Amino acid sequence: MHTPVPRPTSISQPFWDGLRHRRIVVPRCDHCDGWIFYPRRHCPHCCSTALTWRQVSGRATLCSFTIARIPTLPVFAQPAPQNLAIVTLAEGFNMNSALVGVEPDAMRIGMALQPVFDLLDDSGAARLLFTAVDT
Ligand SMILES: [Zn+2]
Repeated sequence: MHTPVPRPTSISQPFWDGLRHRRIVVPRCDHCDGWIFYPRRHCPHCCSTALTWRQVSGRATLCSFTIARIPTLPVFAQPAPQNLAIVTLAEGFNMNSALVGVEPDAMRIGMALQPVFDLLDDSGAARLLFTAVDT
């Protein structure tokens, strides 16, 4: 069973294209400098539509998590359990993701994370996961 491949929209296409090239790009407001994630047509901070896609570092910390011992979908049965997470990027915004390569008992709020570009198919489509920073 294969992990579903995201279907980009006209709004989210740059994000998914970035992941194909192992880059994380996110819209930022040209008016108030607010980061916008998930991607939208307007800034949720000031309603401006002047947005520019910018690359972010990928450095993050664990904001919150839950351990899904029953897979959220059959295709996510392995690896088990799913370490579902909300991560805070160094630039100051949150995104939903999951941690891989981290035992559930080792997960700590505030732990340092780095991106994992999880290849989904032969076309290069990828999803963004995170793992602990090597210390
Ligand atoms: Zn704004």
